[in-house]
Amino acid sequence: MDLSEIKAIDAAHFMPVFGERLPAAFTHGEGAKLYDTTGAEYTDFLAGIAVNALGYSDEGFKNALKAQVDSIIHSCNYFYNEQQAQLTAALCEKTGYDRVFFGNSGAEAIECAIKLAKKRAFAKGSASAKFVSLKGSFHGRTLASLTATGQDKFHVPFEPGTYSYAYVEANDCAALTQAVTEDVCGVILEVIQGEGGVNALDMRFVKLARELCDRTGALLIIDEIQTGMGRTGRFLAQELYDVKADIITLAKALGGGVPIGACLCTKQACSFTAGDHGSTFGGGHLACAAGAYVVGAIDDEMLARIETIGAYFKDGLRALKKAHPSSIIDVKGAGLMLGAELSPQHSVAAIKTELFSKKYIIGTAGTNTLRFLPPYIILETEIDSLLSALDELLK
Ligand SMILES: *Cc1c(COP(=O)(O)O)cnc(C)c1O
Repeated sequence: MDLSEIKAIDAAHFMPVFGERLPAAFTHGEGAKLYDTTGAEYTDFLAGIAVNALGYSDEGFKNALKAQVDSIIHSCNYFYNEQQAQLTAALCEKTGYDRVFFGNSGAEAIECAIKLAKKRAFAKGSASAKFVSLKGSFHGRTLASLTATGQDKFHVPFEPGTYSYAYVEANDCAALTQAVTEDVCGVILEVIQGEGGVNALDMRFVKLARELCDRTGALLIIDEIQTGMGRTGRFLAQELYDVKADIITLAKALGGGVPIGACLCTKQACSFTAGDHGSTFGGGHLACAAGAYVVGAIDDEMLARIETIGAYFKDGLRALKKAHPSSIIDVKGAGLMLGAELSPQHSVAAIKTELFSKKYIIGTAGTNTLRFLPPYIILETEIDSLLSALDELLK
């Protein structure tokens, strides 16, 4: 099919939730390059929204998947599963958590985290269904994860939500202290808000969240769906804050493109007993084989690379800010999760489209932020050429 045929079917029959998409359909990729149905080549600074961490056509990854396809793809959770056990062990070893559950997406990992906190309160004899999350956060599109998301634009048509939330302004320590009362069962946050605009929380705010949870018995849930799996140069972004949540969620990069989400928790936070949760597809052989490969690939050497090349990229963005002080008002993020906030005179959507026509794929986030989430194998030369294209556009 060519692009116009694909577009016609999409316009006629796909639910119109994605609006008018960018005009390309990709057929294959190599490294950080993507190719569309016309054969045009793009450099990818979005990685399928922080998913394709190893880039495209990684030989080892493809071979691991092919081997799994040749043996077994799905059985179900009535039985033991070697790939699931391998990924469980690898994640616990890497993160220091004790328990894991696998679903198929980020939102499902969040659902699991919310249920863990709710069940724990229930087990302690409380009827509490009160949570605290942050304004500007994003936790997913299912009903419970949508309610956790602190942005009205996602809620309005779907109210009432699931459970009761106090939405606290990020970095407002007084408001957080007031919100985390004795009857709160969980506090959920991203240490760097991704969809919200690549906004890192302050160190003292994250530490305060930990302290308040310790004081009141609420569980701290850190959503590492976007920030985790090495994205910030640490395996988990909470390491940058020297904080350990009771529960974390992973997804996006975990399967390297194969859908999988994980919820991890400490022994004490694991309130589930047999029958409390489940999934037909979650933790299947193929997704777990993919996850085990990706976790293995994100070793110390890879983390060091992300840190170094991320710093190189961030320095380049800072130099652009210096060259265009009235256009770029802030450079944000850590590792290869970076944002450039533009002044209101610029439309980030327009810049994204112009870069797309120059064959660079980037994202946008928050109110006016260009968002960069390249695969971890992005090259300095690829960063240089994106930066010079952006420099041209801002002139
Ligand atoms: C993407 C994302 C989610 C939702 O993940 P899905 O796989 O789309 O359900 C949740 N939290 C954060 C921080 C995310 O970036």
